[in-house]
Amino acid sequence: MAYKSDIEIAREARKLPILEIGAKLGIGSEDLLPYGHDKAKVSQGFIDSVQDRADGKLILVTAINPTPAGEGKTTTTVGLGDGLNRIGKNAMICIREASLGPNFGMKGGAAGGGYAQIVPMEEMNLHFTGDFHAITSAHSLLSAMIDNHIYWGNEAEIDTRRVVWRRVVDMNDRALRQITCSLGGVSNGFPREAGFDITVASEVMAILCLAKDLKDLEKRLGDIIVAYRRDKSPVYCRDIKAEGAMTVLLKDAMQPNLVQTLENNPAFVHGGPFANIAHGCNSVIATKTALKVADYVVTEAGFGADLGAEKFMNIKCRKAGIAPSAVVLVATVRAMKMNGGVAKADLGAENVAAVNKGCANLGRHIENVKSFGVPVVVAINHFVTDTEAEVQAVRDYCANHGVEAVLSRHWELGSEGSEALARKVVELADSGKANFAPIYPDDMGLFEKIETIAKRIYRADEVLADQKIRNQLKEWEEAGYRNLPVCMAKTQYSFTTDPNRRGAPTGHSVPVREVRLSAGAGFIVVVCGEIMTMPGLPRKPAAETIRLNDAGQIEGLF
Ligand code: ADP
Ligand code: MG
Repeated sequence: MAYKSDIEIAREARKLPILEIGAKLGIGSEDLLPYGHDKAKVSQGFIDSVQDRADGKLILVTAINPTPAGEGKTTTTVGLGDGLNRIGKNAMICIREASLGPNFGMKGGAAGGGYAQIVPMEEMNLHFTGDFHAITSAHSLLSAMIDNHIYWGNEAEIDTRRVVWRRVVDMNDRALRQITCSLGGVSNGFPREAGFDITVASEVMAILCLAKDLKDLEKRLGDIIVAYRRDKSPVYCRDIKAEGAMTVLLKDAMQPNLVQTLENNPAFVHGGPFANIAHGCNSVIATKTALKVADYVVTEAGFGADLGAEKFMNIKCRKAGIAPSAVVLVATVRAMKMNGGVAKADLGAENVAAVNKGCANLGRHIENVKSFGVPVVVAINHFVTDTEAEVQAVRDYCANHGVEAVLSRHWELGSEGSEALARKVVELADSGKANFAPIYPDDMGLFEKIETIAKRIYRADEVLADQKIRNQLKEWEEAGYRNLPVCMAKTQYSFTTDPNRRGAPTGHSVPVREVRLSAGAGFIVVVCGEIMTMPGLPRKPAAETIRLNDAGQIEGLF
């Protein structure tokens, strides 16, 4: 049987006018700011007006350590949202916006897949409502103002060798990773080394996604450390006086974007911080607003549960004062096989033994999620190529580990395929069993926080860090940053820092290569291993086949 591509399915969607989707949530037309007919931003006035309401239940979708193709967290998030609506619940979805760069590379879209998608998928994957442009502009304004400040006399005494604020563009462009700027003579400023990151790696993105409101946004922007002086004291964004104008540029980008699923159920798609050097979840403002207008809110955290769920709990939930009622752990047969040692090229063949072996990875994530005090259900995201025996192996493993596994066929069937998962999730979320708590307290030392995550989540024996790194952490503690959470940046493919060590490895160490202070976002980034903040395009980028067809439709966006 031939299956339609994501974009073919998305094109056939029978979208409702966005005002009707808003009405389902009780958001009146006066509170929706439409961008065309199928997207709208929610007004700040509406958000303010619902603050006294009780919160709905929050459900986090996370996953085992994935294959490079992705295991379907977004697809399952969308499928579950539709499934909940199908069984009569007032449910909505909250996910991240897509980064433009990866679309032209190889990962493909970020709107889900098959019959579990957000529409308009083309727009969501491209310019959407312009939020990322606004973030790029706000970031660039600060970049420009820093060099301008130096040009006009450098009153703040910035050490031009220690400007830590880089530039951003929303494109995978490895040529810009390291540059020399201000070349060309006296009127162009003072030449210095600089470089570009992709927009989603901007601290402005992380800030937008964690800020409570515009006031909080402005304060956090002011707190960004942009450079250091020769005496190593920090120069803040507020010293350059950029935070006011940056907030103006971000005013509309702060409002959540309302769109719909293929089944006309509501979704907020808002913000999209990198999941490595940032926390990888959609905006706090979208999630909190969703909790006010829906009884169940299904959301996603980037990467596997060792990174995504950990940061969702320890950073987002802690900072936003929200708590998940249930966690859905997405597993696929192919990722089980990969975690069981099968090479990428051989994932297509039935291999129950490898599935069994790979289940150790799933088991560890189950234990980890439970350690946050949240009940968990495993969703087996069904691929039509999975065999009965392979699926059964995952079910058996879960049954032996006290967790239910539900086979979910939303990709193939839409909400009809996720009804069973939806019922199970409601049962768990309504059970009152959740007793959420982050796994470390605010006042724990920064290095101890890193150790806690490495030992309890990654099951490492130790954290390796030079004296220089330990001293840096101590200095930040003394400077008043002790209470910040830590944001781990490591490979998503393994519990260790080595992407090739699959399954449930033990006996490893976690080497910390570098630590960075994101003072505006409010976390310490802990870089373990090679972390790319400006991706490159592959040898055959998807961009080569993306084009408009004769009917004016977009081809090649997966
Ligand atoms: P994640 O959010 O975990 O990165 P996505 O939900 O974006 O993963 O899915 C990654 C890709 O896999 C998408 O292109 C999607 O269409 C595809 N996919 C997801 N689930 C299935 C499935 N059950 N069968 C076939 N393809 C799937
Ligand atoms: Mg995703």
